[in-house]
Amino acid sequence: MIDAIMPTYARIPLAFERGEGAYLYATDGRRFLDFAAGIAVNALGHAHPHVVAALTGQAQKLWHVSNLYEIPEAKRLAERLCAHSFAERVFFCNSGTEAVEGLIKLARKYHHHNGRPERTRIITFSGAFHGRSWTALSAANNPAHLEGFGPVSGGFDQVAFGNLNELRAAVSGETAAILVEPVQGEGGIRPATTEFLRGLRAVCDEFGLLLLFDEIQCGMGRTGKLFAHEWAGIAPDAMAVAKGLGGGFPLGAFMASEAAAAGMTAGTHGSTYGGNPLATTVGNAVLDIILEDGFLEAVTAKAAYLRGKLEDLAARYPAILEAVRGQGLMLGLKCVVPNADVAARLRDAGLLVVPAAENVVRILPPLIVEEVQIDEACGIIERTCARWAEAA
Ligand SMILES: *Cc1c(COP(=O)(O)O)cnc(C)c1O
Repeated sequence: MIDAIMPTYARIPLAFERGEGAYLYATDGRRFLDFAAGIAVNALGHAHPHVVAALTGQAQKLWHVSNLYEIPEAKRLAERLCAHSFAERVFFCNSGTEAVEGLIKLARKYHHHNGRPERTRIITFSGAFHGRSWTALSAANNPAHLEGFGPVSGGFDQVAFGNLNELRAAVSGETAAILVEPVQGEGGIRPATTEFLRGLRAVCDEFGLLLLFDEIQCGMGRTGKLFAHEWAGIAPDAMAVAKGLGGGFPLGAFMASEAAAAGMTAGTHGSTYGGNPLATTVGNAVLDIILEDGFLEAVTAKAAYLRGKLEDLAARYPAILEAVRGQGLMLGLKCVVPNADVAARLRDAGLLVVPAAENVVRILPPLIVEEVQIDEACGIIERTCARWAEAA
């Protein structure tokens, strides 16, 4: 019989039945240290007691009512996200792609609302990833993802990630906005420099463009700040978040300043599920933990510890690992040998990581990871590299 699941993923033959903190337990009884965190989703690891209690409590009361009515849990989550960011308005959806779609619509609507309807084009960057909807694919313009799905949607101009000169040359009277990941994830853990992000802010201010950040992977504490752009000391006009926001429950959002969201009035956008009581209760519970005193400082301290150990390993096994890059607990090991082989061998040894572009493996532990677990993971990487180096 053919697989009833549409085979759009080349899946690893491994299934899990239970998770606890930074560990996953497979159906065959094996235990894995999870430094993939569902691709930066399980910010608080698996089965976090506070989140489980919030979810099960809400599950017995109310799941879904539609956006025809007020949703106090959503209002509370929106107010808290705004209180801790540049934003003044939040729209909840269910995934990252939808949040990016919202940013694109918001940018076009903003200029239309302000009497500049000709401003519709959005500048994006090489190596970007914004999701798998047709618009998001068109924005990122990755040929591997677009094969057979063309022609792409018009309205996007792509320039080299990090190149401000090329960016300035691409701005025209039709440009509406600039869309960028402050740290590229799928693209291979490539952080934008502070100068680049500040340069983008300056160009947007000079030409009246909206600066749109895709913090779906790098946001929600992953880099040691609630939002990655805080490291650069600038703010966007609007931003997409998802992944860590629900800690594993499908929840996304786009957030904006009041001015940027001015055109998003009643009837302009919608989502049946978006911001339902169950999802936003979970989002509030995740935020309770991330906003606890010292939580983000601990992420930064653990990240420095992990990075130091990884840099040491890269220096000692140059035939296997080339360099460490990234920010906070969003780290990438640039490999010399194929990254898929590295991920497979680490998995066989009990450590889960995620491959990315540019022959990188992503190291994305849950933010609640403990130092002993970092030691355990680095021990697995060390033994794997040592055996590999010996065999070579
Ligand atoms: C994962 C991701 C997306 C897409 O999110 P989905 O929830 O899969 O739709 C978009 N942008 C970035 C930067 C991502 O990492």
